[in-house]
Amino acid sequence: MTFADLGLSDQLLRAIDDSGYTEPTPIQRGAIPSVLMGRDLVGIAQTGTGKTAAFVLPMIDVLGHGRSRALMPRSLILEPTRELAAQVSENFEKYGKYHKLSMALLIGGVSMGDQVKALQKGADVLIATPGRLMDLFARGKILLTGCNLLVIDEADRMLDMGFIPDIEEICTKLPTNRQTLLFSATMPAPIKKLADKFLSNPKTIEVARPATANTSIDQRIVRVDARKKKDALVRLLKAEDVKNAIVFSNRKTTVRELAASLKRSGFAAGQIHGDMEQPERIKELERFKAEEINILVASDVVARGLDIKGVSHVFNFDVPWQPDDYIHRIGRTGRAGARGVGITLATSADSGAIASLEKLTGMEIASLDEAPESATDEAEKPSRKGRERKPKAEKSERRERPAREPRPERAEQPKVRREPEPEPTDAAELEDADTTWNGPVPSFLGQGFGG
Ligand code: AMP
Repeated sequence: MTFADLGLSDQLLRAIDDSGYTEPTPIQRGAIPSVLMGRDLVGIAQTGTGKTAAFVLPMIDVLGHGRSRALMPRSLILEPTRELAAQVSENFEKYGKYHKLSMALLIGGVSMGDQVKALQKGADVLIATPGRLMDLFARGKILLTGCNLLVIDEADRMLDMGFIPDIEEICTKLPTNRQTLLFSATMPAPIKKLADKFLSNPKTIEVARPATANTSIDQRIVRVDARKKKDALVRLLKAEDVKNAIVFSNRKTTVRELAASLKRSGFAAGQIHGDMEQPERIKELERFKAEEINILVASDVVARGLDIKGVSHVFNFDVPWQPDDYIHRIGRTGRAGARGVGITLATSADSGAIASLEKLTGMEIASLDEAPESATDEAEKPSRKGRERKPKAEKSERRERPAREPRPERAEQPKVRREPEPEPTDAAELEDADTTWNGPVPSFLGQGFGG
């Protein structure tokens, strides 16, 4: 099947051709004709499956007819994070280059004034994070009554981040006879309920998880001593043929410490986590994409869904608390036909978590032991105030409980937002916590693209 078989316009086919795609992915094959026909849709698919184009492409054609009016966007795409919102807008630019559609992006961390200006000019497509959208709505700066197409993307992530009440409220402000598309990697009960309440007779399409279907990722578990994880990571980074790697950790503090430690060990490492301001996050990502640094230490909140080409390795410095995050993490490698390696460091305390992720992926992950006595000379010195524990007899060591695994002091996620208008205590995490970014503003804000 080709893209031409899906009923897309010639301009769109030209833009797709320019992107170099020859064949639609399964989610695109399933979704595009239904969206063009105006049907509601539930897409059980995650990033890496081509799901963004599955809604962006038909939306461009649907919106190709008709005109936008000031403050009344014609369509709305809700994304859980600023990074994902920006990524979707890039997709609109790429595929919409032969159309004359206008787009506005409403994300926290970018000056509100520019976003309002873009809305005043009229937007065919509004891409927003729920917090900022609610904020603008409360200030009377936006009307959703002309919004006939709604996309709720990464719905399970929205749930993790406490956005479901906001989404329900947003849904009530749109016309009831709108078209609604909901995408989610998983369908936990609250998402199912949301779909039942706000979608009308939707077509459901489920595509294989990239991790279960994806044989292009060589997955491994390396069993390590809890006290020597950093050394083990350094050894692996040196032993593996690492072109560039994302190293995931469960805690923001570990992300910071690990990035600093890797730098001290001579690696070109950067970091990205939820406590960083938006311009800093973007800068680090750009440095990674431009190959100024080749190791990016990251937390789950900011890294989910990011589409960075050519990541050769993913390391899980910690086994993720939620098995789903494992799939998202390793899905950052082995993309677009390339091969990738996903290595998870696991201590003896992690066996339960490993069992749940093996259950989720439906496969046993190859596991090997990191030799406790192997070279530590080049690794960072453990700096535990000189109270290095004497290793016990090697044979029994692995069977023992590790020496006090640190308790997670503060999780990156899930974030639960209980109040409709939260105090920005964890400012960078919540979408509309700051309005003071003076950094680069996407050039397409409020302007026609393509044409
Ligand atoms: P997504 O699942 O939307 O995050 O997309 C994952 C990656 O697949 C992105 O880099 C897209 O540019 C790419 N992609 C989307 N559709 C296709 C296609 N039909 N053929 C090849 N690559 C695609």
